[in-house]
Amino acid sequence: MFLKYSPLKAKGVSLLSLGRFILCFIHIGACYCCSYDTLLAFALQSREKGQGKRVVQESSNSNSMDVAPSSRSNELQNSKVSLSNTEKLSPENHNLVEVCRVIPNILLDIRYATAHNFLGFSLYAKPACYLHKKVADALLKVQEELASMGLGLKIFDGYRPLSVQQLMWKAVKDERYVANPMQGGRHTRGTAVDLTLVNHEGRELEMPTSYDDFTEKAHSDYSDLPKKTLQNRALLANVMKRQGFQQLPTEWWHFDFEGWNDDIQFPSLDIELEQLK
Ligand SMILES: [Zn+2]
Repeated sequence: MFLKYSPLKAKGVSLLSLGRFILCFIHIGACYCCSYDTLLAFALQSREKGQGKRVVQESSNSNSMDVAPSSRSNELQNSKVSLSNTEKLSPENHNLVEVCRVIPNILLDIRYATAHNFLGFSLYAKPACYLHKKVADALLKVQEELASMGLGLKIFDGYRPLSVQQLMWKAVKDERYVANPMQGGRHTRGTAVDLTLVNHEGRELEMPTSYDDFTEKAHSDYSDLPKKTLQNRALLANVMKRQGFQQLPTEWWHFDFEGWNDDIQFPSLDIELEQLK
């Protein structure tokens, strides 16, 4: 089965609590008592809660989702593949910039650096956001336009190392929600950004769903929503579009920069976040 029974969930242990528990073990380097496939199944089962039609399908291949019961770091190492369009650039030879240095007042809530994400455990070594320089410069213009309205941006995710993308692909083999790493990915190029709007106090504006809600309700054309929510989603899409970003049809929060799939200009990268300055 794609999903496994989780005794922890049955006992009502919250995802957040489990995530903290796991993080503690990761931090002391002793996560070997928690098999990865159980954690993955737990995270995916937790996503079954909530509204809307779930789109994650059970795999027809019972083994396809079974990740070897090894530690996360081992899993990341073992899942790496060689791609013809992926350049293994050194940390000194890339065009990624830390977004906070380009847009000092931007808010960050990097979910994959915490357990507060759909997998339920941390994937990043630090809560930082990097993007290709061109993309960060365009995002600065978005932030400036929003500032004139008393609004701003909050980022959930930016550049994502290819090894992390491969791990996510194992969890959600659905290209509507996770880019196939064999095709280079989207976030792996530093050209995709997940974000939302905030008011002058930093409070998020009402949007159709929370972040990483893989339901039809998160689709950019879902219309059975309050008028204000529709206006907020449209404002985000329009202000981003004016600076060259296109909203993903299945995720209101995900935007790709124009020309993102140009392998020469925007190659997929596998530089760990801790290697970036
Ligand atoms: Zn995204």
